[in-house]
Amino acid sequence: MSDCLFCKIIRGELPSFTVYEDERTIAFLDIHPVNAGHTLVAPKKHSHNIFDIAPEDWAAVSETVRLLAIAIEKGMEADGVNIAMNNREHAGQVVPHPHVHIIPRFKGDGLKLMPQRSYEASEAEESQRKIVGALR
Ligand code: AMP
Ligand code: ZN
Repeated sequence: MSDCLFCKIIRGELPSFTVYEDERTIAFLDIHPVNAGHTLVAPKKHSHNIFDIAPEDWAAVSETVRLLAIAIEKGMEADGVNIAMNNREHAGQVVPHPHVHIIPRFKGDGLKLMPQRSYEASEAEESQRKIVGALR
């Protein structure tokens, strides 16, 4: 798409610190990293998020994420990685081109990415019923 930020990076119209590319995917450094080495993996073909990416592009992105997670942990001498994807505005997606964040983690870096809570009474059963129902 002509005015999509990540499509412009893919076409080489905007600069990036690209670390990997193949026929279907590209991986480049996030310009505002959580930690140095924070990388974004995106399909080269434009879509918006997990809800409309083509299955073959998602499969390719997944494999690139796997390869890059290994390279990022090794290259950055990290102690682990977080892998995350924001889908739609209210889930924190800012750039409407699918991308997976790979964030290198270091012992003692103190980041807490997912605040969690306990289920209320019957909330887990209800959630299970809704999700299983939507799969049909
Ligand atoms: P999200 O909130 O999941 O849509 O993430 C978008 C990410 O893109 C943010 O983490 C930004 O820091 C990053 N970003 C925005 N512009 C650029 C750019 N020109 N090059 C690299 N990363 C970028
Ligand atoms: Zn795009």
